[in-house]
Amino acid sequence: MAMDTRTGGARWSPTVGGGRQRTRRLAARTDVHLQQREGGGGDGKGKGAEAAARVGGEKESRKASPSSSLGPMPASGGLLWQRRGVETALVETVLSAITTYHMTVFPLSKRAIRKIDKLRRNFLWKGAEEAKGGHCLVNWPRVCRSKKLGGLGVRDLQRFNWALRLRWIWFRWKDQNKPWNGLDITTNSAEMELFRACTKITVGNGLRTNFWQQGAAPKNIAPLCYTLAYRKNLKVAHAVQQNRWMRGIQRMSSEQEISQFVTLWSRLSSVQLTPMDDDISWKFTADGKYTAKSAYDSQFFGSRPDFTWTRIWKAKAEPKCRFFAWLLLQRKIWTADTIIRRGGQTDSHCPLCNVRSETPVHLFANCSFSRAIWSQLALLNNQLSTTNYARIKDWWAAAATDGGKTQAVIYAAWNIWKERCRRKYDNKAMTAVQVANLVKQDLSLFLMATVSPAHCFDLVICCNCSSPPSMKRQNTCL
Ligand SMILES: [Zn+2]
Repeated sequence: MAMDTRTGGARWSPTVGGGRQRTRRLAARTDVHLQQREGGGGDGKGKGAEAAARVGGEKESRKASPSSSLGPMPASGGLLWQRRGVETALVETVLSAITTYHMTVFPLSKRAIRKIDKLRRNFLWKGAEEAKGGHCLVNWPRVCRSKKLGGLGVRDLQRFNWALRLRWIWFRWKDQNKPWNGLDITTNSAEMELFRACTKITVGNGLRTNFWQQGAAPKNIAPLCYTLAYRKNLKVAHAVQQNRWMRGIQRMSSEQEISQFVTLWSRLSSVQLTPMDDDISWKFTADGKYTAKSAYDSQFFGSRPDFTWTRIWKAKAEPKCRFFAWLLLQRKIWTADTIIRRGGQTDSHCPLCNVRSETPVHLFANCSFSRAIWSQLALLNNQLSTTNYARIKDWWAAAATDGGKTQAVIYAAWNIWKERCRRKYDNKAMTAVQVANLVKQDLSLFLMATVSPAHCFDLVICCNCSSPPSMKRQNTCL
């Protein structure tokens, strides 16, 4: 680690990974900035925690929390929120990853998946071994969806297990010289169905293709005939010889069975085998080859996102702030309406205006105090100031129209939430102008932490101006 003399903060050497380096640079500069903001010196130990506690007052917030039975309410920008971004990454890189080698070969039992999911869920929501229901703000199946589909991108272990094990079926087709070919690696019906859905078979001599279950899948064309057939593992070449596939089907007794038989028979009459070997290709990759990722993703085909979630995750903001935005858009933050709905007791009035009931959409979109902050940040237009929004997602879609605005909206929402918690639990208050300045400072800090060190000095000057800093505005400010 080296000292950055221009900013007075610590800067990690370039050997550290890009994302980690950026995060640590941000943390180091945030510490320095917060100390300057607070006018404190300190001995350099535990600066991050100290600063976070000063700004967020999480400990006080949690003590004053009106509903301890609901679990800790992530009140302000304290340590609990700072952990969220880190824990999401750790769940994926450690708790999900440690099972990968085992799952590549063996099917994971449902009991094992339940236990691992419990560990991952508890660690994600509480950072500990045990978490109560109140800690888990979003249900686990949703967390396991991809970020594009509104989840956190945490791997679904069952689906991941199936996707990994498809490689053995694929190798049986494509690479028969591999030493593990011939080993008794059994596959279950779910894996076989997934493999059939993901592959396309070109029948040549018909010696490798299962007649009923692969290729055009007569099993799907004539399921009743498949039930009646004696030999269900016939290869195509053997099945079409002397019409062996019909053996057993003579027992047809219903019109439906006869109809399916005729359909299948007419389609088979045009089948011509060739001297070439049967071939297989993967449907979901450009080169037609199997990948575990495409096999995993294919299991979510047909799912449609209920919101443009990718814009949040692509926003240039700290993970904890994006995580907060993700919860906010699902109305999973601890506003008064949620606390009361879940059996807690608290003042239902909005702490910012003390007039209306506190709901997510009021707190961030309709509250007069919040609108004053949006106005200070030049993010309020005619539509946003005159519309009384009923859904937080509608307001968000109108406010965060591009990448730059999404970043500003995320940081503004984050600071409005901190101000709300300051007022509710710490009995301290800031004006709208002060909160807007905090948003600008957050944006400046993030910008300083994410641009190359060569530009840091210029940016410090840039951030002294009154407008929210951004890469585009840098030149105009200077
Ligand atoms: Zn209000």
